[in-house]
Amino acid sequence: MAKGITVIDKERCKGCGLCISACPFGVLGFSDEHNSSGYNVATAVAPEQCTGCTICAQICPDVAIEVYRKEKAESKEAA
Ligand code: SF4
Ligand code: SF4
Repeated sequence: MAKGITVIDKERCKGCGLCISACPFGVLGFSDEHNSSGYNVATAVAPEQCTGCTICAQICPDVAIEVYRKEKAESKEAA
């Protein structure tokens, strides 16, 4: 079960592919979608593999990725 969820801001993404190369778990890939600037944007192609490590968010030069960790959200709900 995925521990993290990535949210990619399609309009910020420039389709550089850095996040796709950086993810150690093969979560990210290019989607078939293009944003309004014509860039082929990144998306989570295997979201169930995401650990929430945040490497993708740290490497994105355009600050297009936000990572949410499910464990934190669950522990907050339990508190
Ligand atoms: S948070 Fe980590 S595991 Fe999830 S998509 Fe980003 S680099 Fe991959
Ligand atoms: S690193 Fe950022 S700009 Fe590059 S493909 Fe990934 S989300 Fe898009």
